[in-house]
Amino acid sequence: MGDDFDAIVVGAGMAGTSAAIRLAQGKANVLLVERGAEPGVKNLSGGILWGHDLDRILPNWWQEMPVERHIVRKRFGLMTRERAVSFEYSDDAWAKPPYVAHSVLRAKTDAWLAGQAERAGATVVAGVPVEKLLWEGRSVRGIVQGGEPMTAPVTILADGMNSRLALGTPIRPNPRLSEKTTELGIKEVFRLPQATLEERFGLSGLDGHAEEWVPGFFPQGVMGGGFLYTNRDTISLGIVLRIGSLYGRSAKSHDLLEAFKLHSAIAPRLEGAELVEYGAKIIPSGWASRPTAFHGDGWMVAGDAAGFLFANGIVIQGMNYAVHSGIEAADTALEARSNGSRAPDRLAAYTRRLESTGLLADFRGFAGLDAVKWNERIYATYPALATELARRLLLDPPLAKKHVRRHLLEIARGSKLPLATLARDGLSILRNL
Ligand SMILES: Cc1cc2nc3c(=O)[nH]c(=O)nc-3n(C[C@H](O)[C@H](O)[C@H](O)COP(=O)(O)OP(=O)(O)OC[C@H]3O[C@@H](n4cnc5c(N)ncnc54)[C@H](O)[C@@H]3O)c2cc1C
Repeated sequence: MGDDFDAIVVGAGMAGTSAAIRLAQGKANVLLVERGAEPGVKNLSGGILWGHDLDRILPNWWQEMPVERHIVRKRFGLMTRERAVSFEYSDDAWAKPPYVAHSVLRAKTDAWLAGQAERAGATVVAGVPVEKLLWEGRSVRGIVQGGEPMTAPVTILADGMNSRLALGTPIRPNPRLSEKTTELGIKEVFRLPQATLEERFGLSGLDGHAEEWVPGFFPQGVMGGGFLYTNRDTISLGIVLRIGSLYGRSAKSHDLLEAFKLHSAIAPRLEGAELVEYGAKIIPSGWASRPTAFHGDGWMVAGDAAGFLFANGIVIQGMNYAVHSGIEAADTALEARSNGSRAPDRLAAYTRRLESTGLLADFRGFAGLDAVKWNERIYATYPALATELARRLLLDPPLAKKHVRRHLLEIARGSKLPLATLARDGLSILRNL
């Protein structure tokens, strides 16, 4: 008996919808399954969608998809409880079509993308979680949804980091996610009248503004960053935390978000804004979060489920890699279908494509990022050092001015940070960031 579908895609996030669109465009009989009542309702991103990976499946997506603003300015900064120092990059080229990055709200974009998949011919079923994969030895033959098995020669797992279908299977043999390789993102969305928002952030038209912060005032040992992104008439604001750094500490993630929100560098811009949305989500921590393999007999893993999230404190990029990997998985499935191949290694081209397109190099090449991101001094020491240096440079009195190096030495001595440690951390940043 034949299979029910040519391909089954689990999860209607950026990875799953992109895969389903490409498969349907290639005339495959594809099923896209989503546990949320509607595609997008379960999804959460900061979120800035970087780049143009979607061009490959939807050439005019940025004109048609419900994006919020195109980002023209990006700020990166360090905070102590009372101070903040930041660096802002702005680029006139970013303000011109086709733009480099857009702020998005996933409930809107993912629903739109699922609609595009349906329009291209995919069958989209929402509101029922896939219970498990249909394993035959180490091969996947389809899924079980609502107690019903459904078969396909290819199943694409695009169900995000908290992939219950993969845990305890050959894809991720450990039945539990490790706190060392997962991060927790929490986000709130605040509504402001559009004109007020544009005036507050100095924006014209649909120009957008984005910020990433290193908060140096979380309780000792708690590590994570904060972000603020402008949408049309809302602001997305949140923090991403290393889950392991919360263990054994009384710090609660919502208190940390509250502290970030109340910082004087943030709070004035939220004044009078109404909280309209709150969400939390587990995300991967880069290369260390990858599964045992990206493909096997009958299965491929894409997006967050494959660990493809790059966050270095300056940018968070997951959606673009989700789209990219979803399309590569779909192309691999289409190729195997046109060859009529049933060989167990017929999907090996997926991993080769991830390699040849540079995706895996982006992650493997930055495997050392954790040494920077999860260095306690990044949070406990350097924000204080950087803000103190800025304060001294600004307040250096006439007739007693000092060189930057002199200030730096004095600050380092005052903070009891051995110069060798400072040099080691500097080298680690240069090597790994
Ligand atoms: C706070 C925060 C800020 C972020 N900021 C950014 C940013 O600015 N830019 C950026 O590029 N990325 C950002 N990211 C990361 C980005 O959100 C992810 O990388 C991206 O969503 C991954 O897409 P995905 O399709 O792989 O997974 P997801 O978006 O997680 O989608 C998975 C889908 O699978 C569904 N699903 C799960 N299990 C099942 C099941 N058993 N059956 C059926 N369906 C299932 C889910 O409901 C969901 O719809 C951020 C993440 C967070 C949490």
